[in-house]
This record gives sequence, structure tokens and C-alpha cells, in this order.
Amino acid sequence: MSEVRVGLVIEDDQDIRELVRVVLSQAGFDVHTASTGSAGVTSARELNPDVITLDLGLPDIDGFEVARQIRKSSDAYIIMLTARAEELDTLMGLEAGGDDYLTKPFRPRELRARVEAMMRRPRASSDSRSVPEAADPEVSHNGLAVSAGSRTAVLNGAELKLTRTEFDLLLALLETGRIVRTKADLARRLRNEPYDVGSYVSDADERAVEVHMGNLRKKLGDSIQAPRWLETVRGVGYRLAPASSN
Ligand code: CA
Repeated sequence: MSEVRVGLVIEDDQDIRELVRVVLSQAGFDVHTASTGSAGVTSARELNPDVITLDLGLPDIDGFEVARQIRKSSDAYIIMLTARAEELDTLMGLEAGGDDYLTKPFRPRELRARVEAMMRRPRASSDSRSVPEAADPEVSHNGLAVSAGSRTAVLNGAELKLTRTEFDLLLALLETGRIVRTKADLARRLRNEPYDVGSYVSDADERAVEVHMGNLRKKLGDSIQAPRWLETVRGVGYRLAPASSN
């Protein structure tokens, strides 16, 4: 793969910033760093990075707000690095637009594994790393048109602004229809693992799937009680809502 992948590290702690920079460099990224939230937002806009690591505790702008601002201009994968162990912070970070998170202290190997799993996931067709055209069935369901190749979801003539994680989850449900996907299945899907590999999925990872699904439901304007797309199977997972006749 000849194309240079760009990574952005937003972190005020110099030691951690250097550690993350080295991990991303070793994973083949051209790495840029920012030590404040505002510098990070600017760099994200200018560099169009593939992956961003975002410290939640920054000196100027709250990390959640940084994520929200980055999301206005970027579809980079955002991994949040949080010193706060509280699960609420993690979930708020995902709601603000993060794709994944790691709690400090983390093992460099774990960060590298997360980044590489993300980079194996396909990107939009304007990108040279996209899936081949042959793998681009356009799927339509209850008025929502989704193209796997161009990574677009169009509802009522307007393209939805989904994060890559939200798009991948939507696609997973469209592919399997009325078959229920457990939260663990979907967490594995986000790691680019086969559903049946049986690898460990933590409670926190399952709750992360719930948050992404909640974000996706909001963007679709879907209803929990009478869903057109995302049907929750209580205590189990999710499946595609039935096709409606109107
Ligand atoms: Ca910090």
C-alpha cells in the first residue's frame, strides 16, 4: 500500500503524546500532533487525517466538544484516550462522535491493534482504499437507500452524515435483515472480525455499540416503538425492522 496514511494525536501530556506518536508511526502513519483542543480542531480540518487519537482532558476545550467540532469537517476514525475510568465519560465521548476508546494507562500494542482494525474497514469510494465496485450493491429499505461502495446513506433525497462506525453498523443490519445480531456480534464487526470467531467482547464494548446505535437512530429519525430500520431485540441485540408497505 503506497498511499501515506495520516494520523493526528491530540494530547496535552507530552509523554503520552510521544508514546502515541511512536505507536502510530510504527503502524505506518505520517503523524502530526497537537497539544490543545483548538490546535487539534484546526489540524483535523487542514490535514484530513485517517485516524485521530483524542485525549478527553485537554487544557482549553473539553475533549467532548473537540470531538463535536472535528465531526463537522472530518470522517476520521476517532479513538478517545481517557484517564477517567468512569463509563459515563466514555459513553458521552462516543455520543460526541468518537468511534472507539481506550482508558489510560493502555498498552501500546492494544492501541496499535485498535488502529489497525479500523484501517481494515473500508472507506468511501472517493478513496483509493475503498471496496471494489463489484461489492457495491445498493440496498434500499423503507425509503432509505444505502450504497456500500460509496458509503452513502440517503433518506428523503438527503445524504445522512453518519460516522464510519454508524455506517458500518447500519450496513451490518441491512446485510442480515431479520436475523438478530447480538451486541457482541456487532462489536466484532467493528473490529473487522468474523461474527463466529467468539473473541472476547467486554460489557463496555457492548454498551459502546448501544451508544452508536442510539446516535444512528437519532440521525435516521427512527422510532424505538415503531422502528422503520433499527429494531431493538430486548436483551439480545438488533435487527432490521420489517419492510413496510407504505
Ligand atoms: Ca490530558
